[in-house]
Amino acid sequence: MNASVTGRIHSVETFGTLDGPGVRYVLFLQGCPLRCLYCHNPDTRDPSAGTAITAGAALADILPYRPFLARGGVTLSGGEPLLQPDFACALLDGCRENRLHSALDTSGAVPLATARAALDRADLILLDVKAVDEALCESLTGFGPQRTLEALDYCERTAKPVWIRHVLVPGYTLDPHHLERLADRLLSYTCIRRIELLPFHKMGEYKWAALRLPYLLGDTPAPTPAQLEAARAIFACRGLTTA
Ligand code: SF4
Repeated sequence: MNASVTGRIHSVETFGTLDGPGVRYVLFLQGCPLRCLYCHNPDTRDPSAGTAITAGAALADILPYRPFLARGGVTLSGGEPLLQPDFACALLDGCRENRLHSALDTSGAVPLATARAALDRADLILLDVKAVDEALCESLTGFGPQRTLEALDYCERTAKPVWIRHVLVPGYTLDPHHLERLADRLLSYTCIRRIELLPFHKMGEYKWAALRLPYLLGDTPAPTPAQLEAARAIFACRGLTTA
């Protein structure tokens, strides 16, 4: 690994159980180009914020936890880790050299030419597909879905295992027509190992207030159990299991 590459991190979680298989050390990298309305970590967006650290120092912090990560591993999350591709690549190399399973939690929202090296190095891609419809994706994140879908196509070509993650937002993505389009789109990919449908929540709303940013989903309710079940049924009737 190139231990001297410096990146900026927002925070770490030493015992994560939500971002990939098993118990994981999750490193949240600073900076994100998207502007998701439901973002629960808006304080990760500014690429100049956070703490500067070398890849070597970040890895040195991970290695003492290795006995606990044997059935899990390390996840690079954010923010958007691909916004710091050299730093992400160095960390992923360090994981491989130390026989730690690595996952890259990304929206794929950078050009494929930038993303490719990190996608190649990670053992697993956790791909946040915000929406497949151009207008819906733009209204939700400020950007279209093209780069995300290009990243997914690349994973298919390279047989890279992918977990899809999709947030169900009432009034936006929690819509039968959208979910049918998404499920139909995902059907053809053999690289997809798991599809996670994540209910919208407002646990990060206080961070928007602290940053003096307008939170536009304040009146949006969390999905009901019946709505979640209906969303899962759209995938199930196509033979797609969701978590
Ligand atoms: S991609 Fe993640 S970190 Fe970036 S704005 Fe969206 S929810 Fe927030």
